[in-house]
This record gives sequence, structure tokens and C-alpha cells, in this order.
Amino acid sequence: MLLSLPPYVCACMDTLEQAGFEAWAVGGCVRDLLRGVMPHDYDVTTSAPPGEVLRLFPHAAPTGISYGTVSVVMQEGIIEVTTFRTEADYQGFRRPECVCFANHLQEDLARRDFTVNAMAYAPARGLYDLFSGQEDLKRGVIRAVGEPGRRFEEDALRVLRAFRFASQLDFSIERVTLDAALSWAGNLAYISAERVAAELLRALYGLRPSRLLPLLRSGALSFCGVNAPASFPAEPFDHLPQSLPLRLASLCFLCGAQATRVCAALKLGNALRREAEAYERQLRDPLPQTGRELKERFSILPPECWWDLLRARSLLFKEQTQPLRALCEEIQRRQEPWRLSQLAVDGSDLQALGIPPGRELGALLQALLHIVLEHPEWNTRKTLLQIAQGAEH
Ligand code: ATP
Ligand code: MG
Repeated sequence: MLLSLPPYVCACMDTLEQAGFEAWAVGGCVRDLLRGVMPHDYDVTTSAPPGEVLRLFPHAAPTGISYGTVSVVMQEGIIEVTTFRTEADYQGFRRPECVCFANHLQEDLARRDFTVNAMAYAPARGLYDLFSGQEDLKRGVIRAVGEPGRRFEEDALRVLRAFRFASQLDFSIERVTLDAALSWAGNLAYISAERVAAELLRALYGLRPSRLLPLLRSGALSFCGVNAPASFPAEPFDHLPQSLPLRLASLCFLCGAQATRVCAALKLGNALRREAEAYERQLRDPLPQTGRELKERFSILPPECWWDLLRARSLLFKEQTQPLRALCEEIQRRQEPWRLSQLAVDGSDLQALGIPPGRELGALLQALLHIVLEHPEWNTRKTLLQIAQGAEH
């Protein structure tokens, strides 16, 4: 079995091997190479203790040193190099009480979550696949490494990770693993919001987000306000555009939850929250009927998001959105103004007419915007100044 690791990853592994240690590419990068997908990053597991890794590489940072992880900075990218480890007792359903370094690759692979994530590869030794990950990869199956119940009991985040990988890869979750995941799912409530959010968002963004449904229906995510009804439309949900805020808004809407509350519970950033709220509002409100109404809505949800929104509405509500899509394109093609900065006049033009800065001037600009929303052809300096002068008298 020959996998093509990039030269900089091979160089990093060579340095470790020449110093007398074992080094293996491991986890997601091996899984992705076997699937014929370009890995987005590379993890290396090694018998070298973290201190040795730091010593061997001139540009290395002890980014996760308590977990044995050193980030090795190469010109082409950063490689996370982690010393073989096992995890002993778990606390709070998540963090191992202590991290114990291991002597053998086998132990390191045995602590990993799923068989498809527990393969290692070294150019000189080939693929090391202790748990038949390759077979599960071929069959499209997520299966826990070891005894599923124990693995989910140790770390409840693995429950969500199982659904995340199922969605990302469009894999099914093997029966025993699925049953165990659902029976330990309640412990997700004890995991930090940030970690839950990171996995949930990746699952939502995946190839088949409806793979999440058994978890969403189990009530285990009620702590963040998400609880899917039996009527949740799985098939349309899978075909939503790959826009994270739109998918999040759709999830909230379909679960009868408020995006604001879900985002707060998951401690999501303001930008994502605002976008999800904007989509959510446009999912709740009836569609605009006229070009003017549509342009008014642009201040809530900008024009570039409407294509995705309309696609979502036609999928979820079976609405006929083609006419509105055409209207949206037409407005953009003609560059019809819909916000103050697009007016052919600005505050200083109005001040030149003798209107003092302040509330009155702001109201006049708004009035002009209302006029051009209806009559985009009037958005010229001359016409707007005439209108403004008329309004003054
Ligand atoms: P991605 O390509 O999406 O990053 P990944 O498999 O690299 O997927 P990571 O979250 O980056 O996923 O984790 C790297 C590896 O570490 C996994 O492949 C898995 O072997 C192991 N791992 C990560 N989190 C856990 C966990 N909670 N329990 C057990 N093993 C884990
Ligand atoms: Mg990764």
C-alpha cells in the first residue's frame, strides 16, 4: 500500500526516524488519502517524547504540550506531531485525567475514536490498520474502536463526532456503535459549548446533514435548544445550499428553536449569529411580493444571500421561487439602489442645500431612499437634489 504524502510531511517524518524514533502519519490524513481526497492537514504520531520533537525541529512550538503535541512549522505547512499516548481515566465526560505516553503505536491507535480514524501510515512500513478501518472505509461505516459503550462513556464528544463523520463522509453508523452513541448522548450536555459547536457545525456543513437526525430527535441537544420533530424533512435538508448560516437557520426553524438562543447556547461568534438570524427571519416571513419589498429586505439579508435563501424555501416549503429569483437577478444586473450609500447624493450634498447635519438630514436621506426604491430611475444627483429642495419648501 503506497500513499502519497507530501514531501514536507515525509521530510518531517524522516527527521524523527533518523533520530531513532518511529513516525507515522495518522488519523484524518490517512483516512482521506485512502478515500482519494486531499487531506486538509497532516498529523504525525511518534515514539519521540515532546522534548525531543522540540529539539529536532528549529521551528516547532509546544502548542499542546500537555497532550504531547508539538506543532512543527515547515515552509509548506504546519504538522501536528504528537507523542504516542494512551488516555487513562476520564473526568467530566471529556478530558482525560492524565495523559500517559505510550511505547507502542498500537496503544495510540486504540485510544482513537473510530476505525476509519485509527489507521497509521509510514512510507517505509506501509499501512498499519489494526481495527479494519480500511474495510469500514470501503463499506462506508463509522464504527467505534474497542467497546463502543465504554468509548462514549469516556468521552461524550465522540457521540457527536460519530454523527459529524457520518454527515461529512455520508457514512452510516454501525448498529452497535449507533445504539451506544444514543445511549450516552445525554452526557453531551456536560461538554463545553465550544467543542459541541465545532462538531455540530461541521456536521451541518457535511455532505448529508440528515445523518444527524437520530441524535437531533433523541433530545440530547435540548440543552442548546435543538430538538427535531418527527416531521423533520430529511431529504430537503440534505440538499440545502452549503451555507453554514443558512443551514443553521434552517435547523433552528425546523426545530422550532430561535437562532438567537441556539447561537448563544453554543457560544457562536457574532458574525455567524447575525447571518443565521437574518436567514431565519427570511425563512419565517412570507416572501416579498414586489421588487420594492425585495429591496427593502436586502437591508436584513443582502442580495448575494437571496439565491441560497430562495433555493432553501423552494426545497423546504415547496414554494415557487423562480419569479423572485429572476427579479433578484434583474435588480442586481441593473444595479438598482437599495441602501443609503448607493444614493446619488449624500449628506454633504444636502448640507450644501442648507440642511443642517442631524436628525432632519438623516430623515431626508431615508425619504430619498424610499423614493428610489420605488423609482430607481430617479437616482440621479439632479433629480434627488430637486426632490430634496422641494421637500425643504
Ligand atoms: P478532519 O479531517 O475533519 O480534521 P480528523 O480525523 O483529522 O478529521 P480531528 O478532530 O482533527 O479529526 O482529530 C484528529 C484525530 O485524532 C482523529 O482522526 C482521531 O484519530 C483522533 N481523535 C480526535 N478527537 C478524538 C476523541 N475525542 N477521541 C478519540 N480520538 C480522537
Ligand atoms: Mg484533523
